[in-house]
Amino acid sequence: MRYLVGLIGSGITESLTPPMHEAEASALALDYEYRILDLARLGRAPDDVGSLLIQARQEGFSAMNITHPCKQRVVDVVDELEEDADHLRAANLVVFVGSRTVAFNTDWMGYRDALIVGLPGASFDRVVQVGCGGAGAATAYALLSHGTATLELCDVDEARREDLAARMRTRFPTQVVRTWPPGEISAAIARASGVVHATPTGMRHHPGVAFDVGLLQPHAWVSDVVYRPLQTELLRQAAERGHRVLDGGLMAVGQAYASLRIITGAQPDRGRMERHFRTL
Ligand code: NAD
Repeated sequence: MRYLVGLIGSGITESLTPPMHEAEASALALDYEYRILDLARLGRAPDDVGSLLIQARQEGFSAMNITHPCKQRVVDVVDELEEDADHLRAANLVVFVGSRTVAFNTDWMGYRDALIVGLPGASFDRVVQVGCGGAGAATAYALLSHGTATLELCDVDEARREDLAARMRTRFPTQVVRTWPPGEISAAIARASGVVHATPTGMRHHPGVAFDVGLLQPHAWVSDVVYRPLQTELLRQAAERGHRVLDGGLMAVGQAYASLRIITGAQPDRGRMERHFRTL
C-alpha cells in the first residue's frame, strides 16, 4: 500500500516532521511520501483548512498532519473527533477513512510518552506549568492523564489560563487544577515536584528564561517543550543546578511516532526515531 501524507500549516518549510516520518517509514519498508503544504506558499488562509482537506483527499492523500495556525480550526471541519482531541478542541492529525475525516491529537500522546520515557520514577504530586497555549494544552492533558495530583497553570493571558483550567477540571474532576498570574507563581514554583515550560521563550528568535530556576526545590525536575534549540537556556540553568531535565525532543518525536502508527497501523521504533531526530 502507498501512503501519501502531508502537513498543513504556516511557516513550515523547515519542519522536521517530514524527515522523521520518511526515515522511519523507510526503515519499516513502507511506501511512504510526506509533503509540505505551506499556507503562505499556497496563497491560502488558515480558514481554508477544510477545503484543503477535501482537495488533499481528492488528490489521493491518506492523512494530513495539521499545525499552527490550524489546530483549533480543524476540529470544526472534520466528520469525527477522537475523544481526547474533542476534550482538547485541537487536533494535529486528520486521517481519511473511506469518505470520512477523523481527527486525532497526537501532541498530548507525544508528551505523555515523553514523561514515561524521559522522567521515569519522577514525582507528579505538584506540577507547575508556565504557558497555556497550543503546546500547553497538550502538556496539561498529558500531565493529568499521567496522574499529576495538583496542576498549577500560569500564563500572561488570563483568558487562556482560565479556559484551559476549566476544560481540564471538567475532564479530570478528581485532580486539582489551579491558576496563577505570572506575578504570583513564585510560591507554587518553590513547592513544585516539577515545572513544565510551554511558552516560546528560549527559542532562537525569543531568547531568555520564563521563570526563576533559583526558586526550585533541589529534587524538582524541569521540562521544556521548546525543541529549537533542544538545549535551552532554561534547561542549561536547571541542569547546572543539578535538576533532572527533559528537553522538547521526546514530545516532538512522540507526536510523529503516534501519527505514523495511527496512519499506517505499523509499529514504529520510537528509540530509532529519537536517535534519527537528534541528528537533524
Ligand atoms: P502559543 O502561542 O500557542 O502559546 C504560548 C503561550 O505562552 C501563550 O498562551 C502566551 O500567552 C504564553 N506566554 C508567553 N510568554 C509567557 C511568559 N513569560 N509567562 C507566561 N506565559 C507566557 O505557542 P505554542 O504553539 O504553545 O508553542 C510554544 C512553544 O512550544 C514553541 O517554542 C513551540 O515551538 C513549542 N512546541 C513544541 C512541541 C514539541 O513537540 N516539543 C510541540 C508544539 C509546540
